[in-house]
Amino acid sequence: MTIDAAQHRTPAPLPPLPPLRVPPRALRDGIAAGAALVVLLWAVQVEPSARLDALFATGAHLSGLLAGYGVLVMLLLMARVPAIEHGVGADRLARLHARGGRHVIGLCLGHALLALCGYAAHAGTDLLTATAALLGYGGIAAATAGTALLVSVGAVSARAVRRRIRHETWRAVHLLTYLGAALAFGHQLSGPDIAGSVLAVWVWAMLHTTVAVLLLWYRAVVPVRQALRHGLRVVEVRRESPDVVSVVMRGTGLDELHAEAGQFFRWRFLRRRLWHTALPFSLSAPVRDDTLRITVKSLGDHTRRMRRLRPGTRVLATGPFGALTAHRRTRRKVLLLAGGVGITPMRALFETLPGGPGDITLLYRAGNAAQLVLRTELEEIARARGAALHYLLGPSGAAFDPLAPQALLGLVPDLVEHDVYLCGPPGMTDAATAALLRAGVPESRVHTECFTFA
Ligand SMILES: Cc1cc2nc3c(=O)[nH]c(=O)nc-3n(C[C@H](O)[C@H](O)[C@H](O)COP(=O)(O)OP(=O)(O)OC[C@H]3O[C@@H](n4cnc5c(N)ncnc54)[C@H](O)[C@@H]3O)c2cc1C
Repeated sequence: MTIDAAQHRTPAPLPPLPPLRVPPRALRDGIAAGAALVVLLWAVQVEPSARLDALFATGAHLSGLLAGYGVLVMLLLMARVPAIEHGVGADRLARLHARGGRHVIGLCLGHALLALCGYAAHAGTDLLTATAALLGYGGIAAATAGTALLVSVGAVSARAVRRRIRHETWRAVHLLTYLGAALAFGHQLSGPDIAGSVLAVWVWAMLHTTVAVLLLWYRAVVPVRQALRHGLRVVEVRRESPDVVSVVMRGTGLDELHAEAGQFFRWRFLRRRLWHTALPFSLSAPVRDDTLRITVKSLGDHTRRMRRLRPGTRVLATGPFGALTAHRRTRRKVLLLAGGVGITPMRALFETLPGGPGDITLLYRAGNAAQLVLRTELEEIARARGAALHYLLGPSGAAFDPLAPQALLGLVPDLVEHDVYLCGPPGMTDAATAALLRAGVPESRVHTECFTFA
C-alpha cells in the first residue's frame, strides 16, 4: 500500500465503551457516606444542653435532617438511572426502596413528635396547643401535609394492603410522594441546621435539583424520546402453550438501546384496556434485525388481554432495565436455572453467554412437559453450542425434589465451579438459592432476578 492510500484509509471505529454500572455495594456505601455527612452537619451545630426542651429539639433536628436525606435517596433509587438500574437491578432497588421507605416515614413521624414535644416543653403548653401554634407557620403546615402524604403512600405499600389493591391504584397513590417531598422541601431549607450555613443551603438545593432533573429525564423525557425514535409495533403473536404467548415487535434503530440478554423493558400496548399500564417483561430472545421478543404467561387481567394483541398494535417500550446480565459472570462455567416463565431471560442468556461446549448448562423446572415453553429453540441452541439442557419436571412438594442439593449435584457435579443465574417464582427462587448455598456455591455467585417488585 502506498503512503497516500494508508493516510486516506478511514480509521477503524473505536469499540463502544462498556456501560457504566454502579455495583450494589458502592450504592450502599454511597448512601451510608451521605448519611454520615448529614449527621456531621448536625453534630457541628449542636449545642449540648441538659434542658428537656433542648434535648427534644436536638433529636428533632437530627431526625428531620435524616428524613429529608432519606426522601432524596428514595427518589433517587426510583429515578431509573441506567448506571444504577444496570448495576444493582430493578428488583433489588425496589426492595431497598421499600425497606428504606419505612425508615424514612419513621424518621418523619419521629421528627414531628420530637419537634412538638420540644415546642410544648419550651412554651410550657400542652401538645394540642403546641400543634395549633406550630401549624400557624406556613412552612411547617406544608411539611405536615407532605408527611401526611408520605404516610398514606407507606400505608398503601404495606404488604397486606398492597395485595388487596390494584397495581394501578397503588401506583397512582405512589405519585403523591413527589408532592409530599416538594411540600417538605421549603421547611428543610428554612430549618436551622441548613439555613445556618450558606454552603449547606447550596449543597442541599443542588442535591434536590439533581435528583429532580434525573427523575424528569429518565422517567419522562427518555420514554418519550424512545417512543418517537423506535416506532415499535407488534408483528406477531405466537401461542407457546395454552397460557403463554410470545409477542414479536419490530421498530427502527433498536440496536441503539444496547439491550442485553437477561434485561427487561416496561411495555405499554396502545390498545383498549391495556394502554394505561406499563408491564415489565424480560426479552426472551436477543435483539435481532430490529425485532424484540417477549414471552408472557397469563396471570392476570392484563396478561390475559395480551393474548388478543393484533399485529400493527403500537407499543411504547421503556428500558432496558435489570442487572441479570453477562457482566455478573465471574467463572467460565455457568448454570442457568429457570422456573416456569422465569425461562424468558434464561433463554436469551442461553443463546448469548460466551462459552465453549460444556461451559453452559440450563436446568428448566416446570410442573409437567406441557408447561415447557420455547422448547424447540432451547434444544436447537443446546445442540448448536454443545450446552447441557435438562428439564426438571414434577409438581412442587412431591417426594423427590429436583432442586435439592444432591439432585443438583447429580446433574452438575462441578456445581461449585459455576456462576448460577436464577429466575423463577419467589418460592422457587428462595428454595433454589438455599439449595445452591448448601451445595457449596458461594452467595456472591448466585445471581437472581425476581419477577415481582413487592
Ligand atoms: C423484572 C420483571 C420481569 C418480568 N418478566 C416477565 C416475563 O418475561 N414473562 C412473564 O410472563 N412475566 C414476567 N414478569 C411478571 C409480569 O410482569 C406480571 O406477571 C404481569 O405484570 C402481571 O400483570 P397482570 O395485570 O396480568 O396481572 P395482575 O394479576 O394484575 O398482577 C399480578 C402481579 O403482577 C404485578 N404487576 C401488575 N402490574 C404490574 C406492573 N405494571 N409493574 C410491576 N408489577 C406489576 C402485581 O403487583 C401482581 O403482584 C416480570 C416481572 C418483573 C418484575
